[in-house]
Amino acid sequence: MPVLHRPPQPTVIELAPRLAELAAETDVLVVGGGPAGIGAALGAAAAGSDVVVVERYGFLGGNATAALVMPLMSFHTQTLKAEKEGAATLFPTDHGRGQAVVAGVLKTLLERLVKSGGAIAPSLKTGYTVPFDPEIFKWVAMDLLDEAGVRFLFHSFASQAIVKKRKIEGVVFETKSGPIVIRARVVLDCTGDGDVAARAGARFEIGRPEDRLVQPMTLMFRMVEFERHAFEAYVKDHPDQWKGVHGLWDLIRRASAAGELELPREDMLLFATPHEREISVNSTRVNRVLGTDVWDLSYAEWQSRRQMRQIATFLQRHVPGFEKSYVAQSGVNVGVRESRRIVGDYQLNVDDILNARKFPDVIARSTYPVDIHNPEGTGTLLRRLPPGESYDIPMRCLLPRGIEGLLLAGRCISGTHEALSSYRVMPVSMATGQAAGVCASIAAKSGKLPREISTSQVQAELVRQGANLGASLPVKKA
Ligand SMILES: Cc1cc2nc3c(=O)[nH]c(=O)nc-3n(C[C@H](O)[C@H](O)[C@H](O)COP(=O)(O)OP(=O)(O)OC[C@H]3O[C@@H](n4cnc5c(N)ncnc54)[C@H](O)[C@@H]3O)c2cc1C
Repeated sequence: MPVLHRPPQPTVIELAPRLAELAAETDVLVVGGGPAGIGAALGAAAAGSDVVVVERYGFLGGNATAALVMPLMSFHTQTLKAEKEGAATLFPTDHGRGQAVVAGVLKTLLERLVKSGGAIAPSLKTGYTVPFDPEIFKWVAMDLLDEAGVRFLFHSFASQAIVKKRKIEGVVFETKSGPIVIRARVVLDCTGDGDVAARAGARFEIGRPEDRLVQPMTLMFRMVEFERHAFEAYVKDHPDQWKGVHGLWDLIRRASAAGELELPREDMLLFATPHEREISVNSTRVNRVLGTDVWDLSYAEWQSRRQMRQIATFLQRHVPGFEKSYVAQSGVNVGVRESRRIVGDYQLNVDDILNARKFPDVIARSTYPVDIHNPEGTGTLLRRLPPGESYDIPMRCLLPRGIEGLLLAGRCISGTHEALSSYRVMPVSMATGQAAGVCASIAAKSGKLPREISTSQVQAELVRQGANLGASLPVKKA
């Protein structure tokens, strides 16, 4: 295997102390420009704060753009199962006619994406998901931040937190210009992996309690010159081989037996995009790897790119509609579903989700099921909420225990392995981002710590910004 391995007994080298340039001082510093970071920046700016977003890549969007993770999953309540057996479709069909439980900055982004021709609005036809174009996502997100007066710095990787007496005061970034520091009244960790919180000394957990295994990584890719009608005709003729967005079980079994495919997946997972002749492929799978380990990440890139080549060839050879298709683009990096879960004042758990629990300190809501891609091999566990239901995410999940001046948003908020599999999706990450941004702004403006801010103040501002916190909310619109 060509991948460099971790030495069995690493030698530790001492580095020379160094100086860094102070690049900026701001009210709110958002680290990571993915769905959570975009939500956070827009929420904090709309609440009246000076905001800086810092991102390691040269564009915004996080997994939505860098990892080509498409579409935005449904944020609507589910009705009773409405799936038609063998429906010839490339959209999930079992989300039914539900109510949206996320609004706010997500709604703003969606309206702008749809207006720009970059997304299909959620409807029964799309199974209430949002297929989008990642390139249009990139510029729409940048426009929104620009219009909100948010400043951003790209190509900067957060490597260290500056912490005094358990309060974070700034972050060190590695850049082409050398190390720089940005100081802030409040810092938001929107890195997905909880990099800033971990560097600041926050406690975190990883994976399942029994073996610390996390969900697999997946390299996503787009194929073009796809003939949708030919594919749909094939699945119509083979109704037992396709359900909503996944299937082709028999063809995969045969190709695997012939040695053409070596996949820890029993099916293909394919999603429609806004473009008629394009398909998004979510079917590579690398198990037993961790997104915060450089050796694992390198191995996963190598494995998943080998799998991508096999899958593309398999589709071209064996699946009607793919004969002339080809891979137009793969993710900048393999997609990481799960890594650090920072321990906060409350840990959301699977019972909260499946029992559609409501909290007085709700700051975001979700309807997405528990959706665990097997950390060890084939198969995916799906457990849905009761029809018509949603669950609340409390403010306490955004407050890391033991560290002040820091808020969490997106994938790294406080919850269990099972709970993460639900709240990790992009619409919900944007919603927790917006809430963290609002709380940070109120704290920065009042000279208080985020933990000292009353949740009703955060809720009132979120509602003023158009967020959907549900009917049971104990605050009135400001
Ligand atoms: C294969 C796969 C399929 C998925 N399918 C779907 C789907 O169909 N629909 C859906 O809604 N969700 C899906 N998800 C889940 C979803 O993509 C993520 O959980 C979501 O993007 C989390 O948002 P986030 O902003 O917390 O993190 P991310 O999207 O990961 O964004 C984090 C950002 O921070 C930056 N960053 C990270 N570390 C640093 C650092 N140290 N310094 C500076 N910047 C940093 C990153 O470059 C990135 O821009 C999928 C995930 C994967 C991996």
